Amino acid sequence: MDEIEFIRPKNPPKLIAVSKTYPIEIISLAHREGIKIFGENKIKEGIEKFEILKKENQIELHHIGPVQTGTIKKLFGNFEFTHGVGSNSSLIELKKQSEQKKTLINFFLQTNLTNENTKSGYEKTELIEQIKKELEQENEYCKFYGLMTMGPSDGNLEETKKVFSELNEIRIKYCPNHFLSMGMSGDFKIAAENGSDYIRVGSAIFGTRNSL
Ligand SMILES: *Cc1c(COP(=O)(O)O)cnc(C)c1O
Repeated sequence: MDEIEFIRPKNPPKLIAVSKTYPIEIISLAHREGIKIFGENKIKEGIEKFEILKKENQIELHHIGPVQTGTIKKLFGNFEFTHGVGSNSSLIELKKQSEQKKTLINFFLQTNLTNENTKSGYEKTELIEQIKKELEQENEYCKFYGLMTMGPSDGNLEETKKVFSELNEIRIKYCPNHFLSMGMSGDFKIAAENGSDYIRVGSAIFGTRNSL
């Protein structure tokens, strides 16, 4: 990563330690060192790896990948948060399942502000529309928690900064009491400077992954 000067934010973001692909032994070590918030992108793998830690300890588990309709029901009771709700079809299914399970899930609407076809998420105008809808309808078990995004795939730091500050502006204008999930290993400093509340950091904590 290019070195950039870091301006410490007034409200530092919470750290989600993204432990996807790492084994339980490494996760336990991180937990003993004081990490209590973890992120996994594969639901089944996350449930298996955190089964014991979840029973014994106060840990908070975040689902960070795209939410696939077929597996949504497995989130409930296992994950407290999901960060990848990027379409109306997955949102509708999430709400339907939360009603059936009567178990709370907090969700972030994922937005694609870089307009890359490879990324999932709401386009800017769709996002604003969806935020307004969510604010009108309180849902007991399916709680609109905030907005999530990723920087451009090429890692361009200027573009990253533009995307993160744009999402922060949308938050301030349309849902100032909601949270932002943005920033990964390569860009968490830029995210923190631009109002992020949750940074999702994997390889900068655990080392390079061999696979996704
Ligand atoms: C893997 C992943 C991360 C963490 O990525 P690192 O570059 O390892 O920090 C964050 N967010 C999402 C959505 C991911 O899939």
